[in-house]
Amino acid sequence: MKQIGHIIGGNQVAGTSGLTKGVFNPATGAQTAEVALASVAEVDTAVATSKKAQRAYGEMSIARRTRLMFNFRNIVEANQDEIAARLTAEHGKVISDSLGEVARGLENIEFACGMAEALKGSHSENASTGIDVTTVRRPLGVVAAITPFNFPAMIPLWTIPNALAAGNGFILKPSERDPSAPMFIAELVHEAGFPDGLLNVVNGDKVAVDALLEHPDVAAISFVGSTPIAKYIYATGTANGKRVQALGGAKNHMVVLPDADIGMAADAAVSAAYGSAGERCMAISVVVAVGSSADAMVSAISERTEKLVIGDGTDPASEMGPLITREAQERVASYIDSGEKDGATVVLDGRKNSFDGDGFFLGCSLLDNVTVDMSVYKDEIFGPVLSVVRVDSLDEGLAMIEKNAWGNGTAIFTRDGGAARKFQNEVEAGMVGINVPVPVPVGYHSFGGWNDSFFGDTTMYGPEGMRFYSRPKVTTTRWPDPATSSVDLGFPTLS
Ligand code: NAD
Repeated sequence: MKQIGHIIGGNQVAGTSGLTKGVFNPATGAQTAEVALASVAEVDTAVATSKKAQRAYGEMSIARRTRLMFNFRNIVEANQDEIAARLTAEHGKVISDSLGEVARGLENIEFACGMAEALKGSHSENASTGIDVTTVRRPLGVVAAITPFNFPAMIPLWTIPNALAAGNGFILKPSERDPSAPMFIAELVHEAGFPDGLLNVVNGDKVAVDALLEHPDVAAISFVGSTPIAKYIYATGTANGKRVQALGGAKNHMVVLPDADIGMAADAAVSAAYGSAGERCMAISVVVAVGSSADAMVSAISERTEKLVIGDGTDPASEMGPLITREAQERVASYIDSGEKDGATVVLDGRKNSFDGDGFFLGCSLLDNVTVDMSVYKDEIFGPVLSVVRVDSLDEGLAMIEKNAWGNGTAIFTRDGGAARKFQNEVEAGMVGINVPVPVPVGYHSFGGWNDSFFGDTTMYGPEGMRFYSRPKVTTTRWPDPATSSVDLGFPTLS
């Protein structure tokens, strides 16, 4: 069985805790590797190694750091097929999705290549007579990211480029379910020329996470995952004096007005709900069908969904792959049971699809007449289940979204500019799409939801990410005028 350890000091090292977890190919159900679970001592070694490398790296010129980042960008692009193959092998998503994930990660490296501009400070000459004030942005030291299973390459790439650009050392704790792609990305960081030991990877579970949260030499934590763990990370990290950005779960609504282009809206709903088997934090899981759009949307979605090809992600014909684990497959299927029991209309029943072999496959489900008291509406299902809630007006839809606990992404489909503008202004969510179902911001904006989808105040990647990974230092300078130099012992005032 293949053994996956850690990367410390630029080398792959075997785990020493004696604890491991199985890694599976979700398309076959077969175990393909064992990943080591780091002990507190292994985390300590990783942090100490990163701290040592960061001391010199933090003073490296921006010109040299920029060149390393360009190298990294080119090496990731050159290796995109290998990264995508690892993603599909352990996550299960189809190859085109895996390549798309790498492409979105590349955007963040490209943003970080502009670090000279993004990190530029400011200067005020003669703030008082003969006194100048300069602000620069300094690294934090060693920072850490704890990432989820659903984007094993892209989410590490939401964090690593800006953190390294800003001069920090880095510890990555990837999801233990699909660690091979993030391990490979860490190898590419070294291949690009970043110093050995600057970025270390510790694989592991709660033990490793808690060791990072409590470590005095870890200055900041970036977390992406489910809401309960995000809350825990935020509370524990901040209690230990760290900067924390913790992105949680989601329940994303797509409002469809009667004047929308129904074909366009249905195409969007199908790709946003069932793409990557619904295991996306920006997946659409609720269509809020206003008035007469409802019947048309349900039939257009169901007609398109029935044609989707579900299969092994390595098969180019497959449009949707399996779920991540057997447990996820069973949990998601149980929501169709409960939706049916609670009175929803099961238009498409993914439990009825049959698949060869032992993969963690589940067909696509479409539930109509869902109401806000049903668990299929209230819980994050994180699978290929789309609910339709029927409402009478845009205002009713907006009120419903506001009452929902989460506020990650949302979208409206309409031809009415006034309605779209009202939605954009009033909707309670951090990322909004207008005739765009999955409004993931480009790399030069920043990513983060509201309410239970985000804990912290500085969101991820782009300009906000660069701020998160750097801190201001302000210097006030006075040089005596050689002609009038005198000693003044008074309290400093502006003059
Ligand atoms: P998860 O919360 O189970 O795990 C995320 C990370 O936390 C992993 O590295 C895991 O090892 C670690 N972890 C798990 N349990 C822990 C514990 N008790 N203590 C400390 N650490 C723990 O999430 P997941 O299942 O890997 O990913 C899916 C979730 O992530 C979904 O809820 C999805 O919405 C969310 N997500 C959110 C975003 C976003 O941008 N808001 C993006 C992607 C995924």
